[in-house]
Amino acid sequence: MAEGREPPAMRWWGWGDPAQRPLLTPSALRFLADTVGVAARPRPPVALGKVRLPPATLSEEALAALRALVGVDHVRDDHFERVVHAAGKGYPDLVRLRAGEPQGAPDAVVMPHDNEQLRGLLELCERMSVAVVPFGGGTSVVGGLAPLRGEHRSVIALDTRRMARLLGLDRDSLTVSVQAGMRAPALERQLAPRGLTLGHFPQSFQYVSLGGCAATRSAGQASSGYGSIEKMVLGLRLAAPRGDVELSAVPATAAGPGLRQLLVGSEGALGVIGELSLRLRRAPHERFYDGFFFTDFAAGVEALRSLSQEHAAPEVARLSDEQETRMSLALAGSGGVKGRVGRAYLGARGYGEGCLAVLGFEGASGEVTARRRRALALLRAGGALSVGRSPAHAWLRSRFSGPYLRDELLTQGVMVETLESATQWSNLIRLHRQVGGAISSALSAYGTPALVMCHVSHLYESGASLYFTFLALQRAYDAIGQWQAVKDAASRAIMAGDGTITHHHGIGRDHARWLGPEIGPTGKAALQAVKAELDPANIMNPGKLLT
Ligand SMILES: Cc1cc2nc3c(=O)[nH]c(=O)nc-3n(C[C@H](O)[C@H](O)[C@H](O)COP(=O)(O)OP(=O)(O)OC[C@H]3O[C@@H](n4cnc5c(N)ncnc54)[C@H](O)[C@@H]3O)c2cc1C
Repeated sequence: MAEGREPPAMRWWGWGDPAQRPLLTPSALRFLADTVGVAARPRPPVALGKVRLPPATLSEEALAALRALVGVDHVRDDHFERVVHAAGKGYPDLVRLRAGEPQGAPDAVVMPHDNEQLRGLLELCERMSVAVVPFGGGTSVVGGLAPLRGEHRSVIALDTRRMARLLGLDRDSLTVSVQAGMRAPALERQLAPRGLTLGHFPQSFQYVSLGGCAATRSAGQASSGYGSIEKMVLGLRLAAPRGDVELSAVPATAAGPGLRQLLVGSEGALGVIGELSLRLRRAPHERFYDGFFFTDFAAGVEALRSLSQEHAAPEVARLSDEQETRMSLALAGSGGVKGRVGRAYLGARGYGEGCLAVLGFEGASGEVTARRRRALALLRAGGALSVGRSPAHAWLRSRFSGPYLRDELLTQGVMVETLESATQWSNLIRLHRQVGGAISSALSAYGTPALVMCHVSHLYESGASLYFTFLALQRAYDAIGQWQAVKDAASRAIMAGDGTITHHHGIGRDHARWLGPEIGPTGKAALQAVKAELDPANIMNPGKLLT
């Protein structure tokens, strides 16, 4: 497991460790060329020096005031830092960055160290009419980090990287307090020797900050067992321009509506989360990761429903639809997949065009064995074919490498994007069909073949999440228009199909116009009233969440 390692600074134009070797094999590239097509010539990102940024607008006096507050070294307005903080890691962000044309940049990057500096900074920015974009790990995929300034003259990125201390560990209560800029791997590194874990492993795990996770209501890959971040946050401290909101860690409270839950998911629009108290679990003693096949997607969905409703759900559950299964087998086995995931084996048993599920059980020895045994009985009753450990272990090995592949596909001129939703079990198959259909139709308008695939993950007793991935040849001269057309079609289908516009990516800029339809005008006005109280000058992350 890669939980403990913290990688080096991220590539400014894409994902992850700059030293990562290419992952796209020649046979996988051939598969892509045959299915969706690739560009005639590779399209690498421009050189850093060629990235065009607008001139910075902060006056010398404003810069001096910021430096006086946090220290000279912690206010940066050089080209590199402005580029790195110009966007997140969504598809449109990467398309623009790689072309050297981000949508603006912060005028400066400011790195406070503690609550006192945070408070001073927000008060100073309000006085100087400077918009503030909180910046954690920088992995937003919904435009949450776009350096929009709203009605203000200037905008800064408030980078929380220096606020990364562990503040306290309560072993009796299994809770930890941290500063919000702490990275997820850094926390796991401190917990591992103590036999503890947070259990929050989004695909972006290696780079996310805990404050960013809380601010976006993020869900890790093992959320079916550990819960998503909203279940882990027991207390927090938010610095808002109007004042601090401090909510101590309690296991539960009936003290009025859930203010903690209002601030989890506030995406920097209400203030900056400076500290968090989080629930922990004991690190698992045993892990079993297995692969199963179902004859079709509906049979797999039914089996997952029974697992969650009979309290036999695994920590990690991931059921690919037929298209995603075909694609993963083709990419994994371009040399010819053999054994129990080989076409011959599956075909002979009637699972040839079926769907692969990866299920991962983790926990204390006796408990996990008993739960897995109950799950296996339910899976057998649901028509599952066990295909052994190898597909599940292959997924485990590569679960953090998908984002690197995305960069390589972009270099090959292939558009690759993901979006997600959630709905009740009774509506899951319909939503899958409608959203998948909407994405396919929107892509086919461009006259090139596309791959649209999906998996179910994040199980609840009442429903689950659907996670779509789609690939098509990128329209080089209008890549953003092509993306927007598909995004709009998918979002309309999600809303019409009674899904949520986002299960875990958040609202940001890209989903902002769908928040009203999702929660209604009165619901949105109520949130806007909270914002007006905490951030009357609207300096906090303008243009995101509540527009
Ligand atoms: C390749 C890839 C895979 C991903 N996989 C997953 C996944 O499996 N599950 C999942 O849930 N998400 C996933 N994401 C999305 C993203 O990683 C999450 O939204 C994550 O929680 C963001 O954390 P961050 O620290 O990077 O926040 P950032 O991207 O820096 O910020 C996200 C938003 O929160 C605000 N913010 C950041 N810190 C604070 C703070 N301290 N106080 C207030 N506001 C703040 C920002 O202004 C921004 O609006 C993925 C993204 C990528 C690129």
